[in-house]
Amino acid sequence: MTIKTSIAIAYGDGIGPEIMRATLHILQAAQAQIEPVVIEVGEKIYQQGYTSGIPDSAWDVLKRTKVLLKGPITTPQGGGYKSLNVTLRKTLGLFANVRPCVSYAPYVETTCSNIDLVIVRENEEDLYAGIEHRQTDEVYQCLKIVSRPGCEQIIRYAFEYAQKFNRKKVTCLSKDNIMKMTDGLFHRVFNEIAADYPTIQHEHLIVDIGTALIACQPERFDVIVTLNLYGDIISDVAAQVAGSVGLGGSANIGNQMAMFEAIHGSAPDIAGKNLANPSGLLNAAIQMLVHINQPLVATAIENAWLKTLEDGIHTGDIYSPTYSKQKVGTQEFADAVIARLGQRPSHFKPADYKPGAYTKIECYGERPQVRSKKELVGVDIFIDNPTDIPANELAAKLGALDTSLQLIVITSRGLKIWPNSTIEAPYVRHCCCRFQSGSEVNQLSAIGQEEIIKLLSALNGAGIEVIKTENLYTFDGQLGFTLAQGQ
Ligand code: NAD
Repeated sequence: MTIKTSIAIAYGDGIGPEIMRATLHILQAAQAQIEPVVIEVGEKIYQQGYTSGIPDSAWDVLKRTKVLLKGPITTPQGGGYKSLNVTLRKTLGLFANVRPCVSYAPYVETTCSNIDLVIVRENEEDLYAGIEHRQTDEVYQCLKIVSRPGCEQIIRYAFEYAQKFNRKKVTCLSKDNIMKMTDGLFHRVFNEIAADYPTIQHEHLIVDIGTALIACQPERFDVIVTLNLYGDIISDVAAQVAGSVGLGGSANIGNQMAMFEAIHGSAPDIAGKNLANPSGLLNAAIQMLVHINQPLVATAIENAWLKTLEDGIHTGDIYSPTYSKQKVGTQEFADAVIARLGQRPSHFKPADYKPGAYTKIECYGERPQVRSKKELVGVDIFIDNPTDIPANELAAKLGALDTSLQLIVITSRGLKIWPNSTIEAPYVRHCCCRFQSGSEVNQLSAIGQEEIIKLLSALNGAGIEVIKTENLYTFDGQLGFTLAQGQ
């Protein structure tokens, strides 16, 4: 007797229940060897007072099954609710978001007919770490956190994925011309890891031109790896260009757990009307079947689904007078796919997931054995200056403090406003005052934390409000901070 794989199933909100029923119906008809275990997450759970949208009992199921097929969730607006998706990704260590993006022309309208790319998006770091602060009446900040292990893990995953799924090229998108430290690290690690995969081409593009090219020449891309925020944006650009927002599925992959879902939301406007296209969730389920090592079932379902599209059996969202033969509802579409199990498409390239070819990809950040020599050489002190004391006056006040550190530069939003600034009306209400152990960056000497504590105490005594400090380090003599614009 075949052992069935336990899968946690969350029906979700809005159209979630109807597309999940349709998807499970197809999986069952294709004899997928799965044992669904239903968990309740989302709107109802939020209403019961769980701000995370998931009860403790569901975590227990997830820990046991390690695989979740999830319908879309309606995130309540405002008021302390956390996005369930972000909670699941972070808590379950789902570091990679994998979104295949394919055009199905001419049966599905698209601006480009030969798209077949996969976006591998970092899922846990970047601006999505959710570390935000209000520092003054007028200024808010969001921290962008990028770690070497995080970069290594996602970039290695992208290359491993390319190798397993017979892809030819990996493109890295970053903005390292501006964010030289965070995005610069991502680009550097990309080059390092690419060297381990000589048979796979690699290239790097700045994310803005990269996004423009995805919009107008998507066929030039194969696998794309990028940071969290860029990945979020380009995923929707790519899906929109391919015309497959309602058809795309995505996988959220960790080393222990994985979650599969459609890329669209809960579509409350059409919920309960049997109008929704179940294809997005079905495609996610196909990714899931490959993940749990049922490639033959995945192949059968994908081919039946492609044949259904070719036969012009379409839900309303992709209906076209030219290529559609029959407009159907959610359940009828599922029935049409089931009726075609065992058939292959003739226009589209048939799916062919090979048994044994897709063993689970596990990737970990590599921990360096050698630690660099880290020296504290100064501090950036951010201050609230609500009375708009001009930069010259502020510098005079700071210069008179009892400290061995030298005031080097005052900046506002990254731009130098002292010394020798020619800016007409600088914004001085929120400034950063850089103190270093020496005036030249190549002559910095190590200081102790007590120097900073003494400086903070002096600032406090002078009535200057410190809102944040950022230590300045060198690592093996290399600066661990950027120079201000104009410094
Ligand atoms: P949406 O994707 O739900 O809907 C956008 C439009 O696309 C709507 O007109 C909808 O009717 C249509 N549509 C979406 N899926 C469809 C399908 N399968 N078949 C046919 N038409 C479909 O986006 P939205 O309206 O911005 O968001 C609605 C809710 O979904 C929000 O609460 C949002 O937070 C949530 N959401 C959840 C997820 C998720 O759980 N992964 C993702 C995105 C949005």
